[in-house]
Amino acid sequence: MGFAIDEAVSRLKNEVAGYEVPVVDLIAAQTRDPFKVLVATILSARTRDEVTAAAARRLFKRAATPDELARLGADELEKIIYPVGFFRNKAKYLANLPGVLAGKFGGRVPDTIEELVQLPGVGRKTANLVVAVAFGKPAICVDTHVHRIMNIWGYVRTKTPLETEKALRNKLPEKYWIEINSILVAFGQGTCTPRRPGCDACVISDLCPQLGVTPRKTASTRMAAATSDTLFLVSWNVNGLRAALKKGFFDTFHELDADIFALQETKALPDQLPDTVINIPGYRSYWYPARKKGYSGTAVFSRHEPLQVVYGLDSEEFDSEGRVITLEFDDFYLINAYFPNAQPGLKRLDYKLRFNRAMLACMERLAKKKSVILCGDLNVAHRPIDLANPGANEKNPGYSPGERAWMDEVVDAAGYYDTFRLFNQEPGHYSWWSYRFNARAKNIGWRIDYFLVDPASRDRIRAAAIHDDIPGSDHCPVSLTFSRGPA
Ligand code: SF4
Repeated sequence: MGFAIDEAVSRLKNEVAGYEVPVVDLIAAQTRDPFKVLVATILSARTRDEVTAAAARRLFKRAATPDELARLGADELEKIIYPVGFFRNKAKYLANLPGVLAGKFGGRVPDTIEELVQLPGVGRKTANLVVAVAFGKPAICVDTHVHRIMNIWGYVRTKTPLETEKALRNKLPEKYWIEINSILVAFGQGTCTPRRPGCDACVISDLCPQLGVTPRKTASTRMAAATSDTLFLVSWNVNGLRAALKKGFFDTFHELDADIFALQETKALPDQLPDTVINIPGYRSYWYPARKKGYSGTAVFSRHEPLQVVYGLDSEEFDSEGRVITLEFDDFYLINAYFPNAQPGLKRLDYKLRFNRAMLACMERLAKKKSVILCGDLNVAHRPIDLANPGANEKNPGYSPGERAWMDEVVDAAGYYDTFRLFNQEPGHYSWWSYRFNARAKNIGWRIDYFLVDPASRDRIRAAAIHDDIPGSDHCPVSLTFSRGPA
């Protein structure tokens, strides 16, 4: 017997009514403007919805029409749309878009697939989505979720999205063509996820043959962690994630088995990384690369879905370097940060101190609402006990008076806990060693990676550690065990 498509679509429509609306549909519903739908669709490829939505908001403030878009160059567009996936290519497409619309289509967005695919950055999937969502005309947009889920159902047996589109044109009742993409994108993001779909809570589990699927286990570590009374958080400057992958990153990741794993200095765009690291089973991942290739960048893996994720400090000056990701959970904020290096000769000290001030202001604002955890590479050793050679480094980056004064301000004046020092007052515990002079073997190091916790949350701090036996980077991971729920 074939798959019961009518029953499935009917149930899923009800189911996803309570889910977040995919960003392109949301923009269509809010604006009814084919130009904005087209631009949002171009931005949305290989990009999370929340990132697309924020980039679209910034862009439409500056350019709500093709004429306004024509006044922005590719360089400026890059800055506006960053950090959407492939932002450089997309900025070029958008810069060329007004000219092609004017030259070929009288300045209007065309409404057929054949015409739309002539626009820069518009493939068949984008064209189908624009035709269906912006113009309400029958078209089947087959993105990765539609292709995947239709094959799980056995409704089609295809190898590529294009084959799926062709098969659905012959098979799927036309009344579902326009809406099927929105339904399955929402369902694919919320329940039938690519890794470990939630079959145990799925409203069509009785209809679905689950072809090629490994459902999540209800008694998995994820669930077990959810019932324990503490969270285990790890922070690690990996000094280049692609390099760390070759040096046992996955072994460390699984061995530490953290609820939240925060990385700094990833030095990679998500599209330069294998799917095995973007989608680690049991975790959601959030990425904030720098605009400059191979530089800076932060990421967070979390077993628990945050209420929201904020990228950056809302500052043009700092946010092109991908240094800060904030995850908000029910009862705490986690700020994962890669602080700037003051640089030899303290050339970048002023920049770093401005960043530090912006960070403390952010921490203080959030701490008024709930617990705040700041983790990451702060690029500063606080006290003489925190580095092997304090005397020789008094004026050097990472231990200069200005940098230490900021740590005094955070720890002594504002009252944040340097969690490691609550449990260990001994010298010789470091988190970074130069690659030169055999420094790690001789333990000539610096403690510059921290978990800081706001003053009101002292009772939630259960343990803190430095994992200095773990190789794979010039930094080692540091960790915090933090209780759930208010103290
Ligand atoms: S039963 Fe599982 S595989 Fe099938 S649609 Fe539901 S979540 Fe997806």
